[in-house]
Amino acid sequence: MKYRGAKPSRGMQPVVPSAATLIDLHLHSWYSDGTARPSAVVRQAKDAGFDIISLTDHDSVHGIVEARETCRALGMTFIPGIELSVGLGDDEVHLLGYGIDAKLKTLQRTTELLAGERAQRMERMVAALQHQGLSIAFEDVRAVAGSEVLSRLHLATALMDKGLVPDRNAAFQRYIGTGKPAYVRRHLLSLREAIDLIREAGGVAVMAHPGLTRRDELIEYLVRLGVRGLEVYYPKHDFVDIARYRKVCAKFDLFATGGSDYHGSAKPDIAIGAAKMPPEEYEKLLKFISL
Ligand code: AMP
Ligand code: MN
Ligand code: MN
Ligand code: MN
Repeated sequence: MKYRGAKPSRGMQPVVPSAATLIDLHLHSWYSDGTARPSAVVRQAKDAGFDIISLTDHDSVHGIVEARETCRALGMTFIPGIELSVGLGDDEVHLLGYGIDAKLKTLQRTTELLAGERAQRMERMVAALQHQGLSIAFEDVRAVAGSEVLSRLHLATALMDKGLVPDRNAAFQRYIGTGKPAYVRRHLLSLREAIDLIREAGGVAVMAHPGLTRRDELIEYLVRLGVRGLEVYYPKHDFVDIARYRKVCAKFDLFATGGSDYHGSAKPDIAIGAAKMPPEEYEKLLKFISL
């Protein structure tokens, strides 16, 4: 297989993919709503046989240096990534940005802003839960999170740890799922803002888990605004989804990415590598980024 990789830099020796190379481009660390530190996520991926990975924390690039260093030490290829939530009407679409330069000031400013807004929103959600008579404090959520990106998944864990719900799913069902009594919508980037940010940072934008979002009619619009890939391989996509999204990729000339959306023990049923990106699709992605 011909390798058409981007320029290596900073001493990184990219893994030359073969048909057998295992690639997982959707992983979360404790810098968003995952539970493991970036080095531990990378080691687990290595142990599972993976050679090419991306860290895609929500609204954060804080884990990128550690993940990259660990990949380098273990002889793996690291793709710096991020997952951004975009508001489209009442819907939320998730974009993955790959090949971003985490040092870009605009990216750091925007992620700080988003983290601040997440904190304000969490305060309001905790207040709403207290109003319902639940004994939960903002500090409980902070303690679970351990970093500045506060997610509803952290809140669900805090509610479970305090015995206020039997499991995380019940927290969403009863209180914090969309439209439930303690749900507070947070400010989301517009599609244009998110795509421009990813591009300005030297990255390429990919629509995450379309089978979860279930707004396939939006894909053409996303492509027009600059999305170049679709996350076809995803644990919750069945073979019908995969076949459908492969067709969508062919129609709009998109590359097909894949990843597990690993969150550590916060989503215990999702293992690293639960979905993989085909090496030939990875080679298409490489044409858009430089590592
Ligand atoms: P946020 O970004 O703060 O709105 O939180 C979204 C997080 O909550 C993501 O990690 C979702 O996967 C997770 N989430 C949403 N609904 C559920 C659910 N019903 N059960 C478990 N996790 C969920
Ligand atoms: Mn998450
Ligand atoms: Mn997502
Ligand atoms: Mn994710």
